[in-house]
Amino acid sequence: MEKGSKIYVAGHRGLVGSALKRKLESRGYTNLIFRTHKELDLTNQQAVNEFFEQEKPEYVFLAAAKVGGILANSTYPAEFIYENLMIESNIIHSAYKYEVKKLLFLGSSCIYPKLAPQPLKEEYLLTGPLEETNEAYAIAKIAGIRLCKHYNEQYGTNFISVMPTNLYGPNDNFDLETSHVMPALIRKFHEAKVNNEPEVVVWGTGKPLREFMYVDDMADACVYLMENYNFSEVGEFVNIGVGEDITINELVKLIKEIIGFDGEINYDASKPDGTPRKLMDVSRLNGLGWKAKILLEDGIKKTYEWYQDQIR
Ligand code: GDP
Repeated sequence: MEKGSKIYVAGHRGLVGSALKRKLESRGYTNLIFRTHKELDLTNQQAVNEFFEQEKPEYVFLAAAKVGGILANSTYPAEFIYENLMIESNIIHSAYKYEVKKLLFLGSSCIYPKLAPQPLKEEYLLTGPLEETNEAYAIAKIAGIRLCKHYNEQYGTNFISVMPTNLYGPNDNFDLETSHVMPALIRKFHEAKVNNEPEVVVWGTGKPLREFMYVDDMADACVYLMENYNFSEVGEFVNIGVGEDITINELVKLIKEIIGFDGEINYDASKPDGTPRKLMDVSRLNGLGWKAKILLEDGIKKTYEWYQDQIR
């Protein structure tokens, strides 16, 4: 990638896309292109085709997706599978048709079988049944990986796939019904503190283990891979994570302390726990010369500052 290369970031307003935009800009890339949802409906094949024909981007970061937490995924599975399949197929096919030099597709750690051994190695893909709560999303993301792989095989394209662990940071979704655990807890503890509420209710049992990565770290890894590697060196896909996990319980305590709430914590066991553990094996990524840098505590503090700025 040259500093003046034409680079399209799909999904630039989201958690991941906005971090990619910040990272590319800070590294001196000057020819970035974006489209809002309103300007370009990525589920519309003709519209995507016309966009690529007109703009002819040289590099593409495919960070556009319909995403959501455990409740959203299990409530709207049709929307999750349909929209994600359409977005991926349209962009990947247009990238092939209009000779994009390199594309990076972003998946998710939920592609792994529910009961796969931990930490999750890349070769565990498609070795067992998926977690039910986000199966629709996972199937779409697995299809995205295989689209890249088969286009590379048949057409000689250079499409890389990465599977990030649970991400958090600025521009995340803080809606309590549809968000992931990190923004939900930041919001719940913040509101409980300012409203002097006696308790915060946490979903599930608090026992599941999750790995969390600050999104700027993830963006750094993506740009690093795009700058230095081709799909043939990366393999079918590469995990992006920090290599360490914590229980939801521990996360709750950490956020409670950072925000400074001193009331009670109660668990609502009627809400799902989801998969018991989700930790990435990051040896492939480390072997490619990249390691996570931002500590969980620092990432939470930065995210909390961003959240407070938004609601001021
Ligand atoms: P997952 O990683 O795909 O399971 O998605 P989430 O980030 O939504 O949930 C992770 C874990 O956090 C699950 O065990 C949830 O039950 C738990 N959790 C606890 N409190 C909350 C909350 O307020 N919102 C969400 N989304 N999850 C919560």
